[in-house]
Amino acid sequence: MDTHTRPIAAVDIGGTKIAAALVDQDGALLTRTQRPTPATAGGEAVLRAVLDVLDELAASPLWSGVRAVGVGSAGPVDTARGTVSPVNIPGWRGFPLVERISAHLAPTPLPVVLAGDGIAIAAAEHRFGAARPYDNALCMVVSTGVGGGLILGGALHTGTTGNAGHIGHITVDLDGEPCPCGSRGCLEQFASGTAIARHALRTGWRPTTDDTSAVAVAAAARAGDPLALAAYDRAARALAAGIAATATLVELDAVVIGGGVAQVGELLLGPLREHLTTYAALPFTAGIKVHRAQLGTDAGLVGAAAVAVAHVGAV
Ligand SMILES: [Zn+2]
Repeated sequence: MDTHTRPIAAVDIGGTKIAAALVDQDGALLTRTQRPTPATAGGEAVLRAVLDVLDELAASPLWSGVRAVGVGSAGPVDTARGTVSPVNIPGWRGFPLVERISAHLAPTPLPVVLAGDGIAIAAAEHRFGAARPYDNALCMVVSTGVGGGLILGGALHTGTTGNAGHIGHITVDLDGEPCPCGSRGCLEQFASGTAIARHALRTGWRPTTDDTSAVAVAAAARAGDPLALAAYDRAARALAAGIAATATLVELDAVVIGGGVAQVGELLLGPLREHLTTYAALPFTAGIKVHRAQLGTDAGLVGAAAVAVAHVGAV
């Protein structure tokens, strides 16, 4: 059978949307669907939305060739138990997602492989994107949150429960602000889009429109506003500290950065490279390459499929 007819059914579950696609072995999306996440409507309603997107995929004539279901979810996840507890989906705490999806598919059973969204994106960038040349890389998403996943020794490093790479919640400021995760001074409190906008406003940046988002701060920074520039510089400095700490611990060849905030490009990556020269000081950390992610908004789907392929094997 043509390998292109043996796709993976991938699902990407986030706080705002649930996307699903049939993905071929080259990472191409053959058919795709999505709907908003009913995040506040209770756990069963969110599950219904997941089963609905799967049912939509199952209506495709390609479904009969599907080898496995790969599920990427906002974390924390517990891949050992098959449960998820996404911070932005309060109805799901220790929710048995793998068991519930498997039960739904029971008439024609398929393996269901769960991964955290940071791990999924690392898998996608390593298999098809900017991390492809590297055996040791950190792939990050800098967006409304800050997440990531690690490639070590040429393979995904997931940890026992699938949560390795949660770089947004390493402390970069000992006396920093409390973080929803329970710690304080987390990288996410400096580098997320929300944090960048909050810091700019706190230091006196005045938006010229109603838009007070990180995108508006970026526009002001490009126009030379010193407070807006300082907010991005502070985010870049925190990212540099977090990346340098990771590189010091596990020795990285490269860091790949994607997500909404990273779309500002050199406004963030320029100061990031500069600050890395301060924080990544030991010789084995000094040469770390910084790349922008190559896969776009569908990286989560491509990655969920890549993780599933890693489990069930290539055709
Ligand atoms: Zn935290």
